Amino acid sequence: MSDCLFCGIIDGTIKADIVYRDETVLAFKDIVPRAPVHILIIPRAHIATISDLAPADGTLVGAIFFAAAKLVEEFGIAESGYRVVVNCGPDAGQTVLHLHYHLLGGRQMGWPPG
Ligand code: 5GP
Ligand code: ZN
Repeated sequence: MSDCLFCGIIDGTIKADIVYRDETVLAFKDIVPRAPVHILIIPRAHIATISDLAPADGTLVGAIFFAAAKLVEEFGIAESGYRVVVNCGPDAGQTVLHLHYHLLGGRQMGWPPG
């Protein structure tokens, strides 16, 4: 998608601090980190929201969590704990319409989320 910010990061026209990549997903540091570790994990395919996932996307979703499991080891938060968050739609505060999983860690978090 030509007007999509995260597709721009995937094709390299928009710079990002990329921390993981494979054939299915890309992960990069959030530009406004909300925790000491704040990484966005996205599919390379343009999918707007979790509501747009199809049954055939199961492998893709698995790849996202596989990337998260690798990243928490690399960033040293596997034992201390972390959170994986997907905002979907206006009430949840989704601002970029390309599916992204927030991986947050490195500090104590509150519950319920705000
Ligand atoms: P949302 O609010 O849609 O759940 O999350 C979008 C996230 O993308 C936000 O946490 C925001 O800081 C991040 N973000 C927005 N623009 C950019 C950018 O150009 N580069 C990076 N690395 N992150 C961005
Ligand atoms: Zn996109």
